[in-house]
Amino acid sequence: MSEQHAVHDEHQQNEDWHVRGCAAFDKRTGGAQKTRLGHLRAVLTSADRMWDNEKTLTYCFIKPVGTKIQQNKVKEVIKEWESYVNIKFKFLAGRNATIRIAFEEDEGSWSYIARDIEGIPAREATMNLGWISTDPEITEEDRGVILHEFGHSLGYLHEHQSLRRSEKITLDEEAVLEFYMRTQHWTKEEVRQQILDVYNDKEVSSFSAIDLTSIMMYYMPKEMNLERIEVKPNNVLSETDKAFGFLNYPFIKTKSPRPEWTITHALDVANVQGDSRQRILNEFEQGDWRGVRTELALWSLNEKAIAIKTRLQNKGGVVGNQQQPVVVA
Ligand SMILES: [Zn+2]
Repeated sequence: MSEQHAVHDEHQQNEDWHVRGCAAFDKRTGGAQKTRLGHLRAVLTSADRMWDNEKTLTYCFIKPVGTKIQQNKVKEVIKEWESYVNIKFKFLAGRNATIRIAFEEDEGSWSYIARDIEGIPAREATMNLGWISTDPEITEEDRGVILHEFGHSLGYLHEHQSLRRSEKITLDEEAVLEFYMRTQHWTKEEVRQQILDVYNDKEVSSFSAIDLTSIMMYYMPKEMNLERIEVKPNNVLSETDKAFGFLNYPFIKTKSPRPEWTITHALDVANVQGDSRQRILNEFEQGDWRGVRTELALWSLNEKAIAIKTRLQNKGGVVGNQQQPVVVA
């Protein structure tokens, strides 16, 4: 949808789901230690949490199974991800698929993250799509919700919780707490967990630098940050979403259905340069997707470390134990 055509009603509708928020369930407890090894372990665990490349992920619908129209919207929209990640989604009749989708209207939209799904009891949903309209046409909102929740299923985290968020926006914590406690009826702790906590302590974001146009970024009214930036509703995959999809799930033996998406294009979009780029290309040429993913994770960690260090230097701050940058060459 181009912004020029965003009539008031559509905008309102788009705002709604983002405002309702999405709870990405984190099955892991405890945080990585704030140590050199802790940071490293966190980022590698994050990469390790993703599915094996070239996997066929089955999905099914479980009660409440939704309408045929709702189900068909899911089947149609998830094809979009298949152009950028070397994963196939396959529908299974019955209830025994890996990704089990329910359409419980009162539960909002949420998903477990990647291989955390394997730990969910077989009869339980791993994803809920509470806001898919029953109208025949796939709305922008439908598309956004489905792409976002399947993003979690692929291992993407919330971009608004990126460690590097503060380079662009500073959340007004009081405004955020007030807003989500009022509109979502979340507790203070839930707002902290879902919105305010940066992944610094326990997790790292999917990307290196923050991408406000990511499908994994929430809509954010300008009142919620000190820079007064309005983050518009994102209902399509950003170029960065696509690039990181490709780099984590690379097309090595086969080609992406979108031929412009090659390893070099993905590296260009993600702006991976220098030695890291060469190491990723080497792994790719050897056909080792695990190597590609690991090198990408190390590059991402390194970029974050450099960003933290630069920020601290600019502030003239002392680099203390808590924020010791980890530079992995
Ligand atoms: Zn989410």
